[in-house]
Amino acid sequence: MRVTGFPKNDHSNGWYNILEEHPPAHVWEGEGAADWVVIGGGFAGLAAARRLGELRPGDRVVLLEAGRIGENASGRNSGFIIDLPHALSREQPEHDRRQIRINRQAIAWLGDLVERHQIRCQWSRRGKVHVAATSQGRRNLDVMQTRLDDLGEECERWDRGRLAAFLGTDCFVDGLFTPGSILMQPAALVTGLARAMPDNVEIYENSAVREYHNGISKTLVTSAGQLTAPRIILATNGWTSAFGFLRQKLLTVHTFASLTRPLDEAEQESLGGEGDWGTIPALLGGTTMRYTRDHRLLIRLDLRHRPDFTITERDLAKVRRRHVRTLARRFPMVPRVTFEHTWSGVMCMSRNSVPKCGALADGIWAAVCQNGVGAAKGTISGRAVA
Ligand SMILES: Cc1cc2nc3c(=O)[nH]c(=O)nc-3n(C[C@H](O)[C@H](O)[C@H](O)COP(=O)(O)OP(=O)(O)OC[C@H]3O[C@@H](n4cnc5c(N)ncnc54)[C@H](O)[C@@H]3O)c2cc1C
Repeated sequence: MRVTGFPKNDHSNGWYNILEEHPPAHVWEGEGAADWVVIGGGFAGLAAARRLGELRPGDRVVLLEAGRIGENASGRNSGFIIDLPHALSREQPEHDRRQIRINRQAIAWLGDLVERHQIRCQWSRRGKVHVAATSQGRRNLDVMQTRLDDLGEECERWDRGRLAAFLGTDCFVDGLFTPGSILMQPAALVTGLARAMPDNVEIYENSAVREYHNGISKTLVTSAGQLTAPRIILATNGWTSAFGFLRQKLLTVHTFASLTRPLDEAEQESLGGEGDWGTIPALLGGTTMRYTRDHRLLIRLDLRHRPDFTITERDLAKVRRRHVRTLARRFPMVPRVTFEHTWSGVMCMSRNSVPKCGALADGIWAAVCQNGVGAAKGTISGRAVA
C-alpha cells in the first residue's frame, strides 16, 4: 500500500533552529530486518521505542522518522508538560483523577530521563498560570478552581497585582496558578531523548515510509531502502490515516508560534517579573505565552485546518502580523523586541478527545492523536503501547 501523505518540513521551527548543534541525520539505506519498527519520532514514537528497548534488550528496534526529530510537532510546541487537563469535567471526577495520575507518570518518567542523561532543555518545575483578561475568562477560572478544589488539587488565585509582579505585564485581571506543570525547550528535550536511547534502538531520520506491505511480516519502503519486521508501531500523529487506518476519525489542526530574540539586560529590567514563566489562556482559542530561561518571549496563537497539511507563506505572514500586534499590546515596555522565528505545527484531535493507543491490525499498533497536549499524553501513549 502506498502511504498517501508525508509531513512537509519548512525548517521554520525556532526552538530547533536555536539549538547549538544539528548533527547530521542517519538515513535508512539498503535492505534489512528488525524485530520492531516504530514509525514517527515525536513524543509518542520516542517513548514507544525506548520502552521496547528497555523491555526487550535482545531485540532490534528501529525508529523511522520522515524528517528530523525536533522539527516535528513534538519539537515545535509551547513547551508545557501539563499534569492537569485543561478541561475538567464535573460529571467524571474519576476520569480526571486517572488522567492526572497518568500525566504525572509521564512527567516523572521524562524528568528522570532528563536528569539521568543530563539533557539540557531548560527543564523547569515552574507550574503554569491560567490567565484571564475578560469577565468571561474570569468565569472560566471560577469553574476551573471549583473543579480543582473538588479534586483536592493545589491551586492559587492570583489578582492583577500578583500577576503583574510575576509576569511583568499588567494586562491580565485574574489568574489561577497550578504548580505541577513543567516548562521546557521542546526541541532540546526531544533531540536529547533521541540521543539517549537504549543500545538496541536505532534511529533513522529523513527516512519517510512511503509504502508498506502488510503480511505476517511487514515490509516498509523508504526512498533509500526497505525494512522488514513482524511488528510495527505507528506514532505518526495526524498522518496515520495516510497508512489506511483511522480514516475519518482524526482531525488535524495547525497552530502557530513565534519566538523573539533574547531580551538584553536593559529589556529584561524593563519587562520585570520573576522570569521563566508560562501562561495558558482562560478562554479557548486565546494566546499561550512563555518567557524562557534564556529570556525569549513566545506567543502561540491562531488555528487553521488544512487537510492537505499546506501552510502557505501568506498564512504564515498573516499569523505573524497578529503575533506582532499581540506582543506589542502585552509587552509595550519592550518595544524594540522582535520575533526571530514564526512557525506552524500540526495537532491531531479526536471527537471524544481520547487518543488511539492500541492494536490496529495483526502486528500493527498505534500511539496517536494526543489532542493538543502530546508532551504528557504522547509520552504515556507510546510507553503504554510498547
Ligand atoms: C505550536 C504548538 C504548540 C503546542 N503546545 C503544546 C504544549 O505546550 N504542550 C503539549 O503537551 N502539547 C503541545 N502541542 C501539541 C504537541 O506538540 C503534540 O500533541 C505532540 O507533539 C504530538 O506528539 P506525537 O509524537 O504524537 O506527534 P509528532 O510530534 O507529530 O510526531 C509524529 C511523527 O511522525 C512522523 N511521520 C509521519 N508520517 C511518517 C512517515 N510516513 N514515515 C516516517 N515518519 C512519519 C512525523 O514526521 C512526525 O515526526 C502543541 C503543538 C503545536 C503545533
